[in-house]
Amino acid sequence: MTDHGFQRVALIGLGLIGGSIAWAARRNADRPTIVGFARSEATRDATRRLGFCDEVADTAVDAVKDADLVILCVPVGAMAAVAAEIGPHLKDGCIVSDVGSVKGAVVEALADLPDHVHLVPAHPMAGTEHSGPESGFAELYDNRYTLITPVPGGDQNAVDRLAAFWRSLGAIAEEMELERHDLVCAVVSHAPHLIAYTMIGVADDLSRVTESEVIKYSAAGFRDFTRIAASDPTMWRDVFLTNKAATLDILGRFTEELFALQRAVRLGDGDHLFDYFTRTRAIRKGIIDAGQDTSAPNFGRGPAPKADS
Ligand code: NAP
Repeated sequence: MTDHGFQRVALIGLGLIGGSIAWAARRNADRPTIVGFARSEATRDATRRLGFCDEVADTAVDAVKDADLVILCVPVGAMAAVAAEIGPHLKDGCIVSDVGSVKGAVVEALADLPDHVHLVPAHPMAGTEHSGPESGFAELYDNRYTLITPVPGGDQNAVDRLAAFWRSLGAIAEEMELERHDLVCAVVSHAPHLIAYTMIGVADDLSRVTESEVIKYSAAGFRDFTRIAASDPTMWRDVFLTNKAATLDILGRFTEELFALQRAVRLGDGDHLFDYFTRTRAIRKGIIDAGQDTSAPNFGRGPAPKADS
């Protein structure tokens, strides 16, 4: 058994994130038994067919029985109901974690878990725009950060074991304070998603005027926005309903900057635009230097597909 010491891990929710945890765990010869549960029979059947869990339970209660680690991999808005259902059936000393994209709200949602379990919230900073049981893959967490956000007064040994589990999946586990997590994620993930959704919405309105030209001639910038804006509507609705304060804070700053750039465009202030774009370009270099993305052109996807001529 690896240094996390878990022998039986229950995953509640078997979509991109839950499925990828199971796939990643399967790469280790010395791994815990992975038990999965999803609310729909269709997802449970798909999981059995794909074979990424050792066992698929028909109820959440059956799934958590005897588990020493339970990870909730459902949308943030569904966490409270799942916790209420499984709470009375958790084993003594069990560690309960989650993968929710917002942490403050999840801790509130899980506040009524029994005293004999340890709550250790976490958030893997990895994902794609795909969802459902077919979308998971073993490499999703490789060399990507998983932020572990301990609850005040929680058990440090439980935090260390969860971090070891994420490392066994290929991730870099790092601790972060809860509130800070929600602000950082508003900057790096939540606000960018809202902006992408908006940009695609604007283009969609425009495409009704220009017929199919927006799609036909879409170049890399627009296509990159469409990837983000194709992300799961339930998940992202819940993110914005639960990380309201931090998202609004970042969007307020974004709007101010946008107005400043708008003014530079209107005044023809090329120096302002050039300096601004030079500063932002350096951010991408920082991400590549940190090993969090490829330096290959077009994200290494090869040449963009040509528009029909
Ligand atoms: P997903 O692929 O859509 O899978 C969601 C899973 O949750 C499915 O098994 C689904 O069951 C189940 N579920 C949905 N609504 C539920 C409800 N009301 N009650 C009980 N179960 C429900 O989603 P995901 O991308 O794996 O996201 C799961 C969690 O990971 C979310 O909290 C999200 O914030 C977080 N996260 C996502 C990403 C990302 O990029 N996608 C990255 C980091 C963290 P059925 O299949 O039976 O419908």
